[in-house]
Amino acid sequence: MASQTIDILCSQCGAFMLRYQKKGSGQLIKLYLDRVVEPDSLLRLKTVSNKSDLPALTCTDCGNRIGLPHEGGTYRMIKGSFRRKGVK
Ligand SMILES: [Zn+2]
Repeated sequence: MASQTIDILCSQCGAFMLRYQKKGSGQLIKLYLDRVVEPDSLLRLKTVSNKSDLPALTCTDCGNRIGLPHEGGTYRMIKGSFRRKGVK
């Protein structure tokens, strides 16, 4: 399956949240930390093995919550809380 690079932006204030290597063209429902390209603050979470130690994904600018910790180094994205933008 082809992968594409996308930027995830906060839907409330438009701030950049993260850059991601997405597989396929469907909606982003589950976020795999392994496929996050930046920022470093998220890359560091790859080493967290315990779900309860993962913080929620929130916008650093407005506090909007865009994803909740899920098992196995993944996040479940909250529909409508973020926008995506393709990156060339
Ligand atoms: Zn925001």
